[in-house]
Amino acid sequence: MQSNDLVNTVRRDLIKRFFGITAAVAVGNVPLQVLAYQKDDFFVPDVTPIKISDHIYALYARGAWPTAENQGFFANIYLVDTSAGIVVLDTGTSVHIGRMAIRAIKQHFNKSVVAIFNSHYHGDHWLGNQAFKEAFPNAPIYAHPEAKTAIQNAIGDEWLHQMMNATSGAVKGTQVVAPTEGVEHNQLFEFGNVKLKVHSYGQAHSPVDIMIEIVNDKALYVGDIIMENRIGNPSETSFKGYISTLNEIDQNLKGYLLMPGHGKPGKTALLKSYQEIMNGIYENAVNGVEQGLSISETKDLALKDPRIKKHAQTTAGFEEFGKFVSVAYTQAELELF
Ligand SMILES: [Zn+2]
Repeated sequence: MQSNDLVNTVRRDLIKRFFGITAAVAVGNVPLQVLAYQKDDFFVPDVTPIKISDHIYALYARGAWPTAENQGFFANIYLVDTSAGIVVLDTGTSVHIGRMAIRAIKQHFNKSVVAIFNSHYHGDHWLGNQAFKEAFPNAPIYAHPEAKTAIQNAIGDEWLHQMMNATSGAVKGTQVVAPTEGVEHNQLFEFGNVKLKVHSYGQAHSPVDIMIEIVNDKALYVGDIIMENRIGNPSETSFKGYISTLNEIDQNLKGYLLMPGHGKPGKTALLKSYQEIMNGIYENAVNGVEQGLSISETKDLALKDPRIKKHAQTTAGFEEFGKFVSVAYTQAELELF
């Protein structure tokens, strides 16, 4: 995909998600008229790191979506404690959240940050980079090379803008700080006594996903490729890419602790729940196309699938189930054409 196309697609998608499809027609740059966030400062209260394995600690987010109340802290930050220092996996939605994470690192570990990884270019996973650049200017910020380019171009500003609106201004003061280094599939890192390995299998949740294996702990940071009790926005999803990425995890990293950007970590059951949802949607979309059903008939077909029924009540984002089916249907049509 050309960089400009990518920017336009992401922009359209963001506008639709946060402002509704009708607004997208009129919107070029959305004015920030809703600065309801009235706090004198933007201090994010301390969050205690929770140990989840030998070397990994979680700063758990508050809630599934960005609001003024959670100050945009709706994506987890993970800290890997190594003998060389702390490695940070994703940095939250604002400089204020990033500063909270740095306070936690100083209080609980009294170590420097040696590296940062951003799982993909959605703003809830990297807008806190600024805080780390200020406090640890020599720590590299790693990401998929196209995530780095996209954030440097228009996507960074676009996400900041949308998060300002979604949190009624709670992220104000944040600046776009893009990743500094691109990484590739299978790239290995050694930070003191801990080894990390990058996994990147192409488009799944976004076009630019990476996952980070913490080799010592048999753990994998999956970013937004797997969430607990939540499905994301489908518009950047590749269903075939998703299914093959989940299969890679299943085959190569069996029994690993899977750490999601949203929700709590889990193992096989967490992976299986996502396989059921993604396979359930895509296989029914293929059936719908093959049988000449409409998208809404295909949606009804998918909703009757036991795999989907099982998760419909407990998975946030299922209100958008029709959109998922519609995206899957379009992809199945192209695939079968
Ligand atoms: Zn996210």
